[in-house]
Amino acid sequence: MTTATEATEQRTFDSLNPATGAVVGTHPRHDAAAVHRTVERAGEAARWWAGLGFEGRRRRLLDYKAVLVRELPRIAGLVREETGKPIGDATLETVLTITHLDWAARHARKVLGPRRVSPGLLGANLAATLEYLPLGVVGVIGPWNYPVFTPMGSISYALAAGNAVVFKPSELTPGVGVLLAELFRESVPEREVFQVVTGLGETGAALAADPGVGKIAFTGSTATAKRVMAACAANLTPLVAECGGKDALIVDADADVAAAADAALWGAMSNAGQTCVGVERVYVVEPVYDAFMRELTERAAAVRSGEDYGPITMPAQTEVIRRHLDDALAKGGRAVVGGADAVRPPYVDPVVLTDVPEDSSAVREETFGPTLTVRKVADAEEALERANAVSYGLGGTIFSGNPRRAMELARAMLSGMTAINSIISFAGVPALPFGGIGDSGFGRIHGADGLREFARPKAVSRQR
Ligand code: NAP
Repeated sequence: MTTATEATEQRTFDSLNPATGAVVGTHPRHDAAAVHRTVERAGEAARWWAGLGFEGRRRRLLDYKAVLVRELPRIAGLVREETGKPIGDATLETVLTITHLDWAARHARKVLGPRRVSPGLLGANLAATLEYLPLGVVGVIGPWNYPVFTPMGSISYALAAGNAVVFKPSELTPGVGVLLAELFRESVPEREVFQVVTGLGETGAALAADPGVGKIAFTGSTATAKRVMAACAANLTPLVAECGGKDALIVDADADVAAAADAALWGAMSNAGQTCVGVERVYVVEPVYDAFMRELTERAAAVRSGEDYGPITMPAQTEVIRRHLDDALAKGGRAVVGGADAVRPPYVDPVVLTDVPEDSSAVREETFGPTLTVRKVADAEEALERANAVSYGLGGTIFSGNPRRAMELARAMLSGMTAINSIISFAGVPALPFGGIGDSGFGRIHGADGLREFARPKAVSRQR
């Protein structure tokens, strides 16, 4: 693993507890030269790791899983310190991470291993084989909001596919990244298969531009994804980009209104709204609007920032939330829970807004805070039209008592993933691919698609 001595200059930065401002850890700022040396070592490790084969890797990854289970309290404790989120949330993201690691380890051979395919019209004398080979070194650039679950959604699948990984965690949560790699060394001490480089914007940019990287798995904002894509262009390095969202929840006439209110609230407020697939907009059909609002406002008024959820992890985000709130209120929006004074850095109190014009930033841009806009619509068609009218397309939710109708709406929703009568449940199902369309990015992590994302198809045809 890369250590402080690896940084060419002894430049460092601190990670802070966003709730208290206390220093959690001090980490090196790796420059482009240090990143390049790390990638070179990873290249050597990748050849060894690929040579272990599916069975060798499966055993090591299941060992790693056992280490993560053993160290769960330590990992969750550090997540809590670096992000400020409650320990229950930090534990949940780590548990979900472990289920994905387990799935990736157990399914890699079946999804990627060699198989015979039909030679087609070319005849019985031709044997055709398809398999998926590792890419070499995968560079993973991660965000801070789920500092275990999100990057590990790429790292687990990339490792299971036979690649070495160089991980650049967010500058806000470097300690968690360093710990995950340190624990991996317990199961794989022979080579540097999973390394971490830390730093501010330059470190991620250097990783994306390094010619030794076979693929970049980026998770973060849409604006940064464009910069990463430009850096990747220099070497035609392929990219999977998991970006932001502006997810909608639709409540249809025959929905369980109380369950929909629970889902909207949890989707909007958990992790203080700092969730890429968090609910930011709700569209409720007219016949159940009043009942839904009663259920929602009663619940939302009882939620307490600092107790039910933690602080806003990235200080600059509180300004974005304040700007969206001010814009919505200035344009005629009404706060039915919370109000203009909800932003009290580092905390933001719950806010539920109605009558917000659709051209407001609170409806069009990612807010990433514990705020929710709710709009009354005539029917599910109007709800769908409005849900689809943003540039993002990550996740979404449908509440409906009619399974067939719900499925039609889910298919028509312009998003990579849709949950029906539940909330964000798709993220916890390892076999389901995770990713978005439009400004939410491209490519998929998780599931069989996630394994293939970190491999290259190899086609061989052999005359018998
Ligand atoms: P961000 O500011 O875009 O940063 C993401 C990562 O990119 C960080 O590690 C950052 O490092 C790095 N970075 C910054 N500039 C770079 C550059 N020029 N080249 C390469 N890397 C660079 O995002 P964030 O604030 O950490 O995370 C929040 C965003 O992530 C939200 O938009 C959220 O919706 C999205 N997200 C998406 C998913 C998903 O799966 N779709 C999941 C979670 C979060 P530094 O720390 O050095 O700036």
